[in-house]
Amino acid sequence: KAKELGRNMYQMYDASMNVKNYQSLILERDLRKAILNEEFIAYFQPRVDARTGKVTSAEALIRWNHPQVGLISPLEFIPLAEETGLIIPMGKWMKKRVCEQLVTWREAGLPLVPISVNISSQRFLQKNFAMEIRELLEEYKLEGKYLEIEITENSIMKNEETVTKTLRELKELGVKIYIDDFGTGYSSFNYLKTFHLDGVKIDRSFIQNISSESENASITTAMIKMAQHLKLDVIAEGVETEGELSYLLEQNCNEMQGYYFGRPCPIDEFENKYLKG
Ligand code: C2E
Ligand code: MG
Ligand code: MG
Ligand code: MG
Repeated sequence: KAKELGRNMYQMYDASMNVKNYQSLILERDLRKAILNEEFIAYFQPRVDARTGKVTSAEALIRWNHPQVGLISPLEFIPLAEETGLIIPMGKWMKKRVCEQLVTWREAGLPLVPISVNISSQRFLQKNFAMEIRELLEEYKLEGKYLEIEITENSIMKNEETVTKTLRELKELGVKIYIDDFGTGYSSFNYLKTFHLDGVKIDRSFIQNISSESENASITTAMIKMAQHLKLDVIAEGVETEGELSYLLEQNCNEMQGYYFGRPCPIDEFENKYLKG
């Protein structure tokens, strides 16, 4: 039996596997260093009320400024961060960074917009998540309405008792909760009536070519109607074209985010473009 296992093991480790494992080991080693050395950067992307063109909030999106490689997209390191648990200190960094920025703006006398932070389900499902948020708000003397949280459908489907308690505590703090990538999870819609949520962000995949692709149009229209009946805010993600914009406005979906309005950018750029002048 052991012999057989040995042979299989030997077969598994062909040359390409070795390279892949080696690369992921390096990535993990570098990611640990990145957390210690704070090699991350927060980019902000505006969310707008498309009727008025006003920026109503921003989403904070993490970037890794790797000392050798340069800027790395979260799509490349979030999966490993989730796997290794490094997503927890990384998320902690991001939340602090966002609070710091809000305080800086307040002290500079700039108008504050709420900043929305993506929360991994690993962190969201821990019992002390709302406590971390409360302590942060206290530390930075910030009102809860300036911090928003994005979680995915998968986060909310796991432990109903913990989720209910966490959502209640966040609501008490005035922190708004949005379902991110809405429509892509495997979940039923039951959770929409079970939990007190503030809104949904319709996934970019449904918004793409919405004005010419009738399947996407029907799905999006249905999602908007449902959300509105449930008194939830609806935000369309990934709006890139005039056609998508006007289709959404016709459906009474006014809140949007996407390259059409602005790409995620460094914070000083965000400040200059959207908060000043
Ligand atoms: P997400 O939360 O759904 O964020 C939206 C993603 O869509 C961002 O990608 C944004 O740059 C991109 N995007 C926005 N508008 C458009 C558009 O018009 N067209 C296209 N093609 N893309 C658009 P990004 O920044 O690469 O982030 C990818 C994902 O990584 C995020 O998806 C989120 O799930 C995760 N992520 C980013 N930052 C954090 C973080 O601080 N913590 C955690 N846990 N996850 C994060
Ligand atoms: Mg998001
Ligand atoms: Mg997401
Ligand atoms: Mg999304």
